[in-house]
Amino acid sequence: MKVLVASAEAVPYAKTGGLADVAGALPRALRRIGVEADLILPYYRCIGKDRFPLWEGPRDIRVPLGHREEPGVVEETEEADGGRAFLVRNDGYFDREFLYGTRDGDYVDNCERFTFFCRGVMEWILRSGRRYDVLHCHDWQTALVPVYVNTLYADMEPFRSAGTVFTVHNLGYQGLFWNHDLPLTGLGWDLFTPRGLEFYGKLNLMKGGLVFADVLSTVSETYSREIQKEEYGHGLEGVLYERREDLYGIVNGIDYDEWNPATDRWIAANYTAADLSGKKECRRDLLAEFGLPDREEPLIGIIGRLTVQKGIDLIEQAGDWLAAQPLRLVILGSGERRYEEAILELGRKYPGRVAIRVAHDNALAHKIEAGADAYLMPSRYEPCGLNQIYSLKYGTVPIVRNTGGLADTVRDADADPVAGTGFVFDEYDPGDMKDAVSRALAAFADRPRWKEIVRRGMEKDFSWEASARQYVDLYENALRKRGRKG
Ligand code: ADP
Repeated sequence: MKVLVASAEAVPYAKTGGLADVAGALPRALRRIGVEADLILPYYRCIGKDRFPLWEGPRDIRVPLGHREEPGVVEETEEADGGRAFLVRNDGYFDREFLYGTRDGDYVDNCERFTFFCRGVMEWILRSGRRYDVLHCHDWQTALVPVYVNTLYADMEPFRSAGTVFTVHNLGYQGLFWNHDLPLTGLGWDLFTPRGLEFYGKLNLMKGGLVFADVLSTVSETYSREIQKEEYGHGLEGVLYERREDLYGIVNGIDYDEWNPATDRWIAANYTAADLSGKKECRRDLLAEFGLPDREEPLIGIIGRLTVQKGIDLIEQAGDWLAAQPLRLVILGSGERRYEEAILELGRKYPGRVAIRVAHDNALAHKIEAGADAYLMPSRYEPCGLNQIYSLKYGTVPIVRNTGGLADTVRDADADPVAGTGFVFDEYDPGDMKDAVSRALAAFADRPRWKEIVRRGMEKDFSWEASARQYVDLYENALRKRGRKG
């Protein structure tokens, strides 16, 4: 079976969040279990000429956009394991400082940029002679691919029997644009209906993926159920409910080559569940990094995009309370200006107790995972969440809200004293969060119990192989829908 994974970001090329971790690791995981998998993404400025060796191939494309054509070039590079990655290049669209926009908002031509990318993928497949059994698309930036496969390109040989799988990593970002952008996509107005890509008078690209792909998935079981309901559906709950027979939840695997305290190259000392002495050194290193004094109190880490999704307003509302507890807080994040300002203010108010770094800093993210005692993730919603799973591996006890992938990966240690791996709270409410933090503090004070919770978390295995095998089942399912044997 031959699969093309299309994504707007993928490690090690370009990353803003978990999507990149998944889109980078999945093709490699598939190759390890014998599936031929290629990756395709835009060629952004951050990818740079020198970081990856690029090959020449049949690489020029001309991409129809409305009444004109935009030229592009598809570069090819070899991945560390020998696989192929393709980079769709058009400097006008992608040679920019950020992937999607600045902290003040999205780039205004995002519809055009990602329409170019999707249609570029289609044109490149036609032109390059490469043939894929399944096109696996991720999030709104690639959602037009399944639409094209079933409309404008439906009669063309490479697409006639190609299965399409569309994975939702975050329903909060749908690629919503004004209706005047529709002609740019080349799609007819007949698709601009509530059964197609129309969404309350606007063009909704993610909806296109949800309507047209053969098989749908999202990144945890719980989230796959939540998004069929109004509270988490962001207006698309009806479409998702209608397609519930084709909607699956597969929890993300973790790239343990990158995120493993036994081998991590970013941290002060390596350690394992059997010998945690290295974690103490990581803790000292993290305290020094943030200029915090070394005390017995637990150190709680937070890493993430600072957006409404991540529950930063709960941290803000509980800030005074948190600062008054026997704990210290280190926060690494970047994102929306108002949340950046809110956490910076917290850091200014409580120096020595709350330390803030507004940045995107992968090395520091590793140091926090290794050096913190606990990890707080109070998300409003969380499709899967990676940091809580990294935290388990690093012996950093997660305190999470009972939603989406957080609910599927962390067990409350009070509710389940035998198998609990963290602390879980239900309501999106500062009171509930404080209660979970208090329960974690009480457990921390009981050293043997805490050690046991740490050990259980470190023993959990979220490696990619199991998830990759589940994706193969979805690919086979998509092929069956196309009348082909899986
Ligand atoms: P999301 O995809 O919603 O951003 P996830 O928990 O699934 O959330 O994945 C977030 C990923 O991005 C993790 O690998 C995390 O370490 C990383 N990350 C997020 N913010 C930062 C940051 N400011 N600096 C470094 N890494 C970050």
